[in-house]
Amino acid sequence: LFAGPCDFVAAVPTIDRLPPITLTEVAFAGRSNVGKSSLVNALTGRNTLARTSNTPGRTQQLNFFLLAEKLLLVDMPGYGYAEVPKTEAARWANVIDLYLRGRSTLRRVCLLIDARHGVKKNDLDSMDWLDQRAVPYQIIMTKSDKLKQKDRDDLLKATSDVTRRRPAAHPEIIVTSAETGEGIATLRAVLGQFAVG
Ligand code: GDP
Repeated sequence: LFAGPCDFVAAVPTIDRLPPITLTEVAFAGRSNVGKSSLVNALTGRNTLARTSNTPGRTQQLNFFLLAEKLLLVDMPGYGYAEVPKTEAARWANVIDLYLRGRSTLRRVCLLIDARHGVKKNDLDSMDWLDQRAVPYQIIMTKSDKLKQKDRDDLLKATSDVTRRRPAAHPEIIVTSAETGEGIATLRAVLGQFAVG
């Protein structure tokens, strides 16, 4: 799956522009600067995602990539920037809502959490949103190389406690680092289960 090509398919700013339902999809979401571009680039072994999420107020869109013609990877814009104008934020929330609720081929959302910061208020809001809509998601820790073993154990425990208190069960947390490659093979295996053919 990750040895084959990875092609940009579509940038989707409004819900009517979604690509037709064909393959299964896995989406990547998280706070701005969580390390999403770095992680997806590490997964695909190439510069799939440009690091653009540090530009507040840029047009919000879902970016679709096709992995080896077997799985669509959906890059969701980073959240947490207050600078996005209110009307744009509301419009975008509606797009996300329609996409997450209505996309029958969406198999999982990978919700990225920065290991240095742990679960923040807006991460909890995202979890609430996903749980309320019964969208399956999995927590992926990023930047694990930034933590000492002790802090890492504490963080994992605190995060597991958060997920255990959720109304629905969720797959095990995957700890990753784009820097050291930790967890990349595990995450690839998870995504591999959703590939078609
Ligand atoms: P995005 O905004 O979520 O796409 O985040 P980026 O991938 O652009 O990363 C944000 C910042 O975190 C950049 O300065 C990256 O170099 C850094 N970063 C991302 N992943 C890692 C990681 O695994 N380890 C370390 N140490 N830094 C990382």
